[in-house]
Amino acid sequence: MGQGFDLHRLVPGRKLILGGVPIPHETGLSGHSDADVLLHALMNALLGAMGKGDIGTHFPDTDPAFAGASSARLLGHVIGLMREAGFGIVNADVTVIAQRPRLSPHYAAIRASLARLMEVSKDVVNVKAGTMEGLGSIGEGNAMAALAVVLLREG
Ligand code: MG
Repeated sequence: MGQGFDLHRLVPGRKLILGGVPIPHETGLSGHSDADVLLHALMNALLGAMGKGDIGTHFPDTDPAFAGASSARLLGHVIGLMREAGFGIVNADVTVIAQRPRLSPHYAAIRASLARLMEVSKDVVNVKAGTMEGLGSIGEGNAMAALAVVLLREG
């Protein structure tokens, strides 16, 4: 079992991409890659379950090769490592913490995208979100965070 966390700032002039899905919003996540906070938390959970560190060690943000990188492509690499290590996914559960926009209209698209990227059935992927009740940097709309938990099986 592995758990993952990530947080990125929300800034004007960036696209908002969550779980590989573009979400219409006036700000987007800032970062070295496409800053897909949901996929970053998910990759950290997968790497954690395998005992293989975190995305910072696998994809250092000091490496120009990862500037603007698609997080979906990075997830593909992590899934490859998982298969090489002889693991499969039992289930994955992700939570996005965001004040705005409302994410429930996008749950189905994000769930389908995660299932496709991890090559598993949608039935074993769950997506949900919560707000910070207006409190703190997330509550003020200046950041977004994500949490993920995954359970792996051998074979
Ligand atoms: Mg990140």
